[in-house]
Amino acid sequence: MTPLKINDFVRELYATNEFIPLHAPTFCGNEKAYVTQTIDSTFVSSVGKFVDEFETKMEELTGSAKAVATVNGTAALHAALYMAGVRAGDLVITQALTFVATCNAVHHMGAETVFVDVSPTSLGLCPKALDEFLQEHAIQTEQGCIHKQTKQRFQAVVPMHTFGHPVELDELMQVCSKWNIAVVEDAAESLGSYYKGMHTGTFGEFGAVSFNGNKIITTGGGGIVLCKSAEAGAHTKHITTTAKVPHPFEFFHDEAGFNYRMPNLNAALGCAQLEQLELFVKQKRSLAHKYCDFFANSDFKFVVEPEYAQSNYWLNAVICPDKEARDRLLKETNAAGVMTRPIWQLMHRLPMFENAPRGDLSNSEYIESRLVNLPSTPLELI
Ligand SMILES: *Cc1c(COP(=O)(O)O)cnc(C)c1O
Repeated sequence: MTPLKINDFVRELYATNEFIPLHAPTFCGNEKAYVTQTIDSTFVSSVGKFVDEFETKMEELTGSAKAVATVNGTAALHAALYMAGVRAGDLVITQALTFVATCNAVHHMGAETVFVDVSPTSLGLCPKALDEFLQEHAIQTEQGCIHKQTKQRFQAVVPMHTFGHPVELDELMQVCSKWNIAVVEDAAESLGSYYKGMHTGTFGEFGAVSFNGNKIITTGGGGIVLCKSAEAGAHTKHITTTAKVPHPFEFFHDEAGFNYRMPNLNAALGCAQLEQLELFVKQKRSLAHKYCDFFANSDFKFVVEPEYAQSNYWLNAVICPDKEARDRLLKETNAAGVMTRPIWQLMHRLPMFENAPRGDLSNSEYIESRLVNLPSTPLELI
């Protein structure tokens, strides 16, 4: 397996001699029509029918009791953590192998991140590593689950469904319920991914999805909070829209809220994109199968969905035999105009999270030094 062969293979897939990006948005539906409608109606901002429609369609798709659209995925996570009761000084457990936004949301709550390892099959938070970490560092008290030494509360666990592959949710939910810790799923990358038939982001009390330009569907910028109960959903909507108490003319706000509402302009784009989600997932899955066949019988291991899951294959990924092979692949593909990227540097290596408490991270380190993401724009292969 030489990188040159990969370049040829990807060029053949995309049938182009131009630059091939890692992931580009695709607009082939009603995007222009819906966006134009918002401009014609002047309702481009915080009021408009597309926001409600987008939320309703997301509820239908995911089975969530209430979906609350937000300005971006980080804001969705921030609001979800607030709703899950995370407050200043609390501990929030997540994976070191994630995009920085997961940890930023925790940080902006005034809480502290704690890192545990990922599972080699899902690339997401490992239930066994989580349980072992808690056994070593946590005790159950009447105030909840607290850290043995620092007495800080473990208020939430945030698993992230890496590249769209669902984490081992049955086991994870079991561990979290045993330790009495809330689960907030970072489902930013996993719209259209299912765990044993149920949509990701609906297992925990809250889930957060992103619609940034590089995600499977985009609203330009945007996110959504998936809520497990209608009551929590109503409260989430309230606090993400300045916590204003409804009144014909008076301004009264009963809580320090956020202005995290998704503008109607963005929701219009989202409604059009959502109509094509099923198609995008099909296209991505067949693209993934092509990659999988290509890497078969090589010492490069293509990342496949765990057997319990139906993944959206948001970003295709391959594990190189070692770091030298990874560096060579990155260099030669990018030099040839085929965009590939390494996985994020582990969070505890970043200056703002370097002192975060953490467990053993050997799986995360293994993946960090070997994984490469491959071009993943949906492709008409079906
Ligand atoms: C994209 C992403 C986010 C944040 O989404 P934004 O919409 O860019 O704020 C959060 N977590 C993960 C894992 C992501 O990939």
